[in-house]
Amino acid sequence: MPLAALTAIGGVSQAEAKNNNPDKPNVVVILADDLGFGDVGFAGAKAIPTPRLDSLACNGLRFTNGYATSATSTPSRYALFTGMYPWKNQDAKILPGDAPLLINVNNYTMPQMMQKAGYTTGAIGKWHLGMGEGHPDWNDTIRPGAKEVGFDYSCIIAATNDRVPTVFVENGVVVNQDPNDPIYVDYDNNFEGEPTALTNPEMLKMEWSHGHNNSIVNGIPRIGYMKGGNDAKWVDEEMADYFVEKAKGFINENQDQPFFLYYGLHQPHVPRAPHPRFVGSTNLGPRGDVIVEADWCVGEVVDYLDSLNLLDNTMIIFSSDNGPVLDDGYKDNAREMLGDHKPAGDLRGGKYSLYDGGTRVPFFVYWKGKIQPAVSDALISQLDIAASLAELVGGEIPEGLDSQNYLPVFLGESNEGRPELIFEAQGKMGLRQGDYIMIPPYKGPQTNLTGNELGNAMEYRLFNVKEDPGQVNNIAAAEPERLEAMKTEFLNIVEGYYTPNVVVEELK
Ligand code: CA
Repeated sequence: MPLAALTAIGGVSQAEAKNNNPDKPNVVVILADDLGFGDVGFAGAKAIPTPRLDSLACNGLRFTNGYATSATSTPSRYALFTGMYPWKNQDAKILPGDAPLLINVNNYTMPQMMQKAGYTTGAIGKWHLGMGEGHPDWNDTIRPGAKEVGFDYSCIIAATNDRVPTVFVENGVVVNQDPNDPIYVDYDNNFEGEPTALTNPEMLKMEWSHGHNNSIVNGIPRIGYMKGGNDAKWVDEEMADYFVEKAKGFINENQDQPFFLYYGLHQPHVPRAPHPRFVGSTNLGPRGDVIVEADWCVGEVVDYLDSLNLLDNTMIIFSSDNGPVLDDGYKDNAREMLGDHKPAGDLRGGKYSLYDGGTRVPFFVYWKGKIQPAVSDALISQLDIAASLAELVGGEIPEGLDSQNYLPVFLGESNEGRPELIFEAQGKMGLRQGDYIMIPPYKGPQTNLTGNELGNAMEYRLFNVKEDPGQVNNIAAAEPERLEAMKTEFLNIVEGYYTPNVVVEELK
């Protein structure tokens, strides 16, 4: 007797075999890479069509005050997975591709919590949290990694798409690795005879503008040196399709039980190399085109969930790890072709910045039939996903976690978000409290090589970002009592982790 007939006799149809347990909904967290507050249609972008994201955001709960903890990737992702502020770990800064695993697997992690609550967990796409114990052997199983962090399945890139090794790592093993062509990685020295952007510029199909002049892979120069692994090297233009298929595969295999999927999109981080079918889909050049590609990726995953009748019992959280950047190391005309588009919307700064464009990001929750369409101005942080999901799935969190349970806010049942949060940019912090932002004095340059404004200044800054989202009017002098109160609160929260960084001499 065919299996289908057997299950029908047992009273369980194919559709009913899905995970329909309302106490254990599936959870999908999708995190874009360097997608700005203003880069999406639902935030007003006209030049970049993002119909799939717009549909989800407008039929879900869209946050206008949603934050990443940090203005760069590694610390931001660290906070998402650990529920702890990244500035409490001095190693939580942008990692090279051969860095050791940053997360202490003996402490709380969100995927471990989900596992204990009965979930099968998967991590697909961008990782950038280190793996192994430092300078790992890429030709052997790499431990510890995503598995030890709490992911039953993983298919990831070790760091970023601009860093070596340019290979996919599935369950700790490099995909398509040939033992006869071993992979070597070095971030300090090139391997003898291996071409770089400096020695062999004729091999480049994409030119570097700053920092990206080491090994050449797929005609694109990278950060770091790599040798071997020719069959294992990714083709950037195929990365979107590759990870979409991996995401579908994970969902397909786990559709009958509760699953938690972290899907780290690699777009619109550099190098921006969309699949040819997306080239020219905007007038903004590769940066616009890869955002359209990212929108397609999200649509593919959502359509797949729908095709398996899983959307009714799947919570989808979408955000970005940090704000936007145009020239992040390659000459891809992102600035030249920008036109009227504003990647950070009306916000000041972007990636790397203490200003709001660094950490205030696109952020929405979609849950078909469960979350009513709404726009929420509640203050909310990706930091709070960990504790809020624990409440959702009956998981446990330890004492002392920075992550706070705002599940009612994520479900649209409350508008009472965080009273305050600390944002961080390259080790420097500031405080948002209600509608106000306080940034302490910090020495340092106004911009880095990307041209993004970093937020360094030798004075305290106080902004009302509800009235002044562009952080143009410093009201520190006009509201001294509020400034003092916020300074006190800031120091209370960051005590032990903050070094006053005022060196007036540097201004002269
Ligand atoms: Ca990023």
